[in-house]
This record gives sequence, C-alpha cells and structure tokens, in this order.
Amino acid sequence: MTDVRNLKSKVCLVGDIAVGKTSLIDRYVVNSFDDRYLTTLGTKVTKKVLDVPLPDADVVAHMDMTIWDIMGQQGFRQLLQDAYFFGVRGVLAVADITRRITLDDLAGWIESVEHVAGKVPVLIAINKADLVGDAEFGAAEIERTAASLHSEYLMTSAKTGENVEEAFRRLGELVARRQVPAAPVGS
Ligand code: GDP
Ligand code: MG
Repeated sequence: MTDVRNLKSKVCLVGDIAVGKTSLIDRYVVNSFDDRYLTTLGTKVTKKVLDVPLPDADVVAHMDMTIWDIMGQQGFRQLLQDAYFFGVRGVLAVADITRRITLDDLAGWIESVEHVAGKVPVLIAINKADLVGDAEFGAAEIERTAASLHSEYLMTSAKTGENVEEAFRRLGELVARRQVPAAPVGS
C-alpha cells in the first residue's frame, strides 16, 4: 500500500528585482495577477500544501511548503541572506526573458543560497514568457545556463499563468525526492 509521508519544506525564490518573483507566488497561491508594481518591502512567507506522488518510494509526500519571498535589491545578500536561506530545501531561480542580465545573475544567486544551505535542487523559471516578442535571449542561452547550473527550466508567465503551477509542483517533486529516499530494489 502507498504510504503518506508528511514533509515540511522551506523553499525560496531568488532573482534580480522585477523579474516577477512576487507575482509568481501570488499567481500560484491565489491565482491572481496584479499589474501594478509593488516593491516587496522585506520578506514574505506564504504556505502551500501539496501532495506529490513518489512512485519510486511507493509514497505520497504530503508537503507543507513554506515559500519565502524577498526583495531583489543588491545589498540584501550581505544583510539578510543567512536568515533567508537557512534551511532552504529548494530554489526557484527566476529570470526575466526581456533582460539578459537577469539570466547571467542567476549563478550568483544560487551560489549565495548554497553558501548557507548547501546543494539543493534548483528549478529555473524564465518568466514573462508572454513577452517573448521582446526577448533578449533564446533557447540556446537558456539551455547553456541551465546545464551549467545543473538545473531544469520552465518558461513561465505570472501574467497568463503559463507553467506557474507546474514550476512549483516540479520544484516540490525535486525537493520531496531528496527528502524521501527511494525504496530499496525488491522491497
Ligand atoms: P519581483 O521584484 O521579482 O518580486 O517582481 P514583481 O513580481 O514585483 O514583478 C515586477 C513587474 O513585472 C510587475 O510590474 C509585474 O506586474 C510584472 N510581471 C511579473 N511577472 C510578469 C509576467 O509573467 N509577464 C508580464 N508581462 N509582466 C510580469
Ligand atoms: Mg517582489
């Protein structure tokens, strides 16, 4: 019989200012999109419960996911990063398809997390996929970055909702897999 395993997992979003971190969380958690620009003034913590089937382990992970959101300004890293990244089990690393620099900055963000939390699963979200006409980079650059960061990626849009649910669900799956070891062969 399939077991249910309760997991508590802290995940965080990283990426430069205005890539859409807060919008992605809002879309995922309440399925809304607010076109106004509101700078996040500090850390916001959101909870989401999701069930992740792990057929390899014959387990369904009942995940209590705590999602940490921050402001993307430089200077944050020095000041708050220890508290923010402490105990993080997974990272959604967000870039904005209309700004090349946001893709190049992902490596630095992930390094900051790993400095505090060690190696954790990372999923890259190339956000604002609805603005693909204004793209500053394409599939080749994305694939190169994803490979160098040992990560998967998804094209997302907090505006249309494209792949938002999928991104958090996939991150949850990667985190749960890491937290629940596969059942030994033959068991
Ligand atoms: P954060 O600083 O990373 O938290 O970014 P925000 O979530 O505050 O978003 C910054 C700006 O980009 C806001 O004006 C959002 O409305 C806009 N935005 C966020 N996601 C998308 C998206 O997928 N498509 C479009 N067109 N705009 C977006
Ligand atoms: Mg924000």
